[in-house]
Amino acid sequence: MSVAAARRSRKRGGAGRRPAAAEAAPQAWPGPAPDATVLLAWYDRHRRRLPWRAAPGEATDPYRVWLSEIMLQQTTVKAVIPYYERFLAAWPSVSALAAAPLDSVLKAWAGLGYYARARNLHACARAVAALHGGRFPSEEAELRALPGIGDYTAAAIAAIAFARRATPVDGNIERVVARLARIEEPLPAAKPRIRRLAALITPPRRAGDFAQALMDIGATICTPRQPACGLCPWSAACAARRAGDAGDFPRKPPKTRGRPRRGAAFVALRADGKVLLRTRPGHGLLGGMTEVPTTAWTPDFDAADALADAPFPTRRWRQVPGTVSHVFTHFPLALCVFVAQVAARTAAPAGMRWIAREALSQEALPSVMRKVVAHALAAEAGCENFDFASNRAQIRPGIVKESAH
Ligand code: SF4
Repeated sequence: MSVAAARRSRKRGGAGRRPAAAEAAPQAWPGPAPDATVLLAWYDRHRRRLPWRAAPGEATDPYRVWLSEIMLQQTTVKAVIPYYERFLAAWPSVSALAAAPLDSVLKAWAGLGYYARARNLHACARAVAALHGGRFPSEEAELRALPGIGDYTAAAIAAIAFARRATPVDGNIERVVARLARIEEPLPAAKPRIRRLAALITPPRRAGDFAQALMDIGATICTPRQPACGLCPWSAACAARRAGDAGDFPRKPPKTRGRPRRGAAFVALRADGKVLLRTRPGHGLLGGMTEVPTTAWTPDFDAADALADAPFPTRRWRQVPGTVSHVFTHFPLALCVFVAQVAARTAAPAGMRWIAREALSQEALPSVMRKVVAHALAAEAGCENFDFASNRAQIRPGIVKESAH
């Protein structure tokens, strides 16, 4: 979203997103409500030490809270930490991030997945710089009007960075509340009720610590499969623990997964060691990221027709044994991979470019494309694996050799 679009959205008060206040009136907690002071006392002793968290008594930086919350969407803490630290080193403030080229941000994000987040991150930084003088607003409604900030992230920033009484509810917190109240209604229909119940137990003071305590309980104790109820500060108040069926909550509807899609990817290797790449369209799946040329990805893909979409009409295309598999949120993908060696003078087709193999690790290649290129380069070198960081193909663990090109 552009700054102008963000400005329009701001005037609309974030139209299209339902503010928490618009939900139905609060209802009573079913049975005795869990006591926030018990959770906060537990948090004071057992809080996780995370790089974006201020130490007790330290001022909280809204930029760090926002950056971490965006990165943590659909992503584990372990995967996020190195990215967070690299971003903070490269762009120590929201103004610095706003001034960075989008391409640099996409490259730094490569490998973290869900790439719309990176584009929104950059758009949001620009909007904060242009509309708020480089300072994040503290009101949930104003935060929600910024690109990439939905109900959860707005509430998390308001509570953690600005000590507002707000209740962020993500998947972890949904699980904890659904178990505490033993909510029979399945997700996602139960979400509004879960949000209301979470808001009911949020204390007027230390709402940020309360939110982070809930996040910690969800991540470390009230885990999806085997909750460690014996370690939980709220075990006495938990309805599902009392009933002995905590693992069955939250209730979920039967799973539906999108139809599998298939396609072909083309890894063209020039004799001077360069690889042919292109940039995906700015919007949609993997928008703005880098890829090798591919066919369309469809359920009825026919490998016999694949070479009609190859970037060069050469007979040198050779199909690499095996396929590259990747699971996106809405569908699983299987790509067969073709490789061709071409002459050093070969020009890149329109919209494509040659990139030195040593520079591949700096490209905004999403995980699926890293797998494709690694699969092709390892096959060309007659090896089992290709490591981007060292630009080497590995024969077997512990032995490496330069791959051929
Ligand atoms: S008692 Fe068990 S199920 Fe209930 S909130 Fe704590 S860890 Fe989760």
